[in-house]
This record gives sequence, C-alpha cells and structure tokens, in this order.
Amino acid sequence: MITLFFAAGDDNWNQYEGPLILALEKAKISATILTKSPANPETVDYIIYAPVAGALTDFAPYRNVRAVLSLWAGVEKLAPNKTLRQPLCRMVDPGLTEGMVEYVVGHVLRQHLGIDRYIINPNHDWVQKCPPLARERSVGIMGLGTLGTAVTTALRALNFNLSAWGRSPKPDLEMPYFHGADGLEALLSRSEILVTLLPDTPDTRGLLNAQTIAYLPYGAALINPGRGTVIDDVALLAALDQGALSHATLDVFHQEPLPKTHRFWQHPKVTVTPHIAADTRPLTSSRVVVENIRRDQAGLALLHQVDLARGY
Ligand code: NAP
Repeated sequence: MITLFFAAGDDNWNQYEGPLILALEKAKISATILTKSPANPETVDYIIYAPVAGALTDFAPYRNVRAVLSLWAGVEKLAPNKTLRQPLCRMVDPGLTEGMVEYVVGHVLRQHLGIDRYIINPNHDWVQKCPPLARERSVGIMGLGTLGTAVTTALRALNFNLSAWGRSPKPDLEMPYFHGADGLEALLSRSEILVTLLPDTPDTRGLLNAQTIAYLPYGAALINPGRGTVIDDVALLAALDQGALSHATLDVFHQEPLPKTHRFWQHPKVTVTPHIAADTRPLTSSRVVVENIRRDQAGLALLHQVDLARGY
C-alpha cells in the first residue's frame, strides 16, 4: 500500500477523485489518498501537485517522497523551489496536447485566411482577394517539444510551410530547424505567423523583445499559448502600434489574470484568451500520473522528468 498526497486543491480533487481511483484500480495499485497536509509528511510516497492558491511550498518534510507529479505541463513555479529535492515530473497529457493542437490550428487558420476581415465588415466591402494556399504561408514554431511537435504535425497535414526553433540541435528533422541564440533570427525572419510554445525559464524570459520582434517579416502575426514571460509587452505593443505586427493572439501573460487595465484588453490588434488554450484533462492525465507511479514501483525510470537546472 502506497500513500499519495493530492496537493492540488479541493476543486481539482472534485474532478480527479473518480478518474484517479479508476486509474489506480486498473493498474492494480493499492493506495491511500490524502487530500489535506498530513500530520506526518514522512508517510507520503508521491505528491500529486498543482500550483493552486495556498499550494504546498515546503517539500523538505516529505523526506520519503519518491516523486512529485505535476498536473501542469509548465513547472516554472515548482522548478526553482529549493526545498524540492525529489524528482519532479511534469504533465504530458494526450488530452492537453489535443487541446493545444486545436487552439493553435484554429488561430493559425484565422490569421492565414484573414477571417476577421469578413466577420467585421461594417461597410459591406466587396474586396475579392483570395488568401494564399497554406503551402505559400510560412509558419514558425518556437519550442519543438511535446506540444510544438504535435502542432507541427497538424499544420504539416494542412501543407503549411513550417520552420521551428529550439534549444538543442535536432539533426534528423525533415523541416528547417534552427537552435540556440544564433538560430533565432533565421527562424523569425521567415515566420509570417509565429507560434510560441516555450516554457518559462530564466533563458526564455524576454526572448521576444524590440530587437527580435524586428526580425519578423513586416505584418507578421504572433500566437502565444506558451508562457507570457517570453514576450516583452512594451515592445510587442509598439510593434503592433507601428504596424510591424498585424495581430497578437495571447493566451498567457506576465500576470494572470491579466489586469483589467492592461492595454492588451483594449488593443484592436490583440486577442486575449484567458489561459484556456489547453487544459489538463482529468481522465487522460490521471492515467499518466498512475503510469509514472507504476513505473517507479516496478523500478523503471520515471517519465517526463524535469531537469531542475534547466527549468523545464
Ligand atoms: P517541452 O516538451 O518541455 O518543450 C519545450 C520546448 O522549448 C523544447 O523544444 C525546448 O527545446 C524549447 N526550449 C526550452 N528552453 C529553450 C531555450 N532557452 N531556447 C530555445 N528553446 C527552448 O514542453 P511542452 O510540453 O511542449 O510545453 C511547452 C510549454 O507550453 C509549457 O512549458 C507550458 O508553459 C506551455 N503550456 C501552455 C498551456 C496553455 O494552456 N496555454 C498548456 C500547456 C502548456 P529542446 O527541444 O531543445 O529541449
């Protein structure tokens, strides 16, 4: 019998109780599940975690915990926690990935086809300007991890002209791929539509600033469902005001909820979505959590372990 501490809040517990118990039963794992901080933290074997209000911040007393299993894909709030000595696994959930693919494909098509022009057409203008084919539209993806790769597969099926950028070299890719600081200009300068799917780490903060935004083709559109800290908001607003960028679709922000007074809310070239691009789905993500517990109990390596030094 193992002990799990569900440190992800009451609201999440209401959604996860059924799927988690079902996944444990299917995996034939007997577990006691605690939903409140235990009197004796040393009895806990695994912590299931989400950064909700009042979330656990001191992991030191959980000396026997074998892994902290995040329900979130982004772990920027956990990775810098110096009390965290246990292995940390982030969420790679097929349901979340599917949601992200749908969000990105939808918003890329909106920009590619110029859909807004026909939805908002108060003068009933009859301007017959057919959009180019997807194969004639260059789309750049910043971050070719789990989500970036899934998005790339879906956009390739629609024939978009794709390029990508990441931290490490990926020699076997069948698409233009650039990496590191030296490769950023090459990616940006060919991205009429730019999708950012980067994590929030010390190295990604402010990557899209006045200098790098200027590498984008004139009139490019930006779609950011990764993390808000990647963007310098002041530089983005200046580029939109000057027409250098035609539109920004933003799902994530430096501060969330986005303050009501933030210029993004009012700006005619900005679409704000309230961090809804892709949610973790209790049914599929419970299976991921339980599979990791099963693997660890069987002496196998944990999946999706975070490199705490790199921050993702
Ligand atoms: P992932 O598999 O860890 O992929 C991260 C990608 O970012 C990798 O390709 C990595 O490069 C690249 N990267 C990291 N640091 C970099 C740097 N300094 N320079 C260049 N590239 C860098 O993560 P994921 O599962 O795809 O998720 C990406 C992010 O999406 C998450 O961290 C989270 O913040 C965000 N997200 C948002 C939502 C939402 O609803 N808006 C939902 C889920 C996730 P390498 O391949 O070279 O390692």
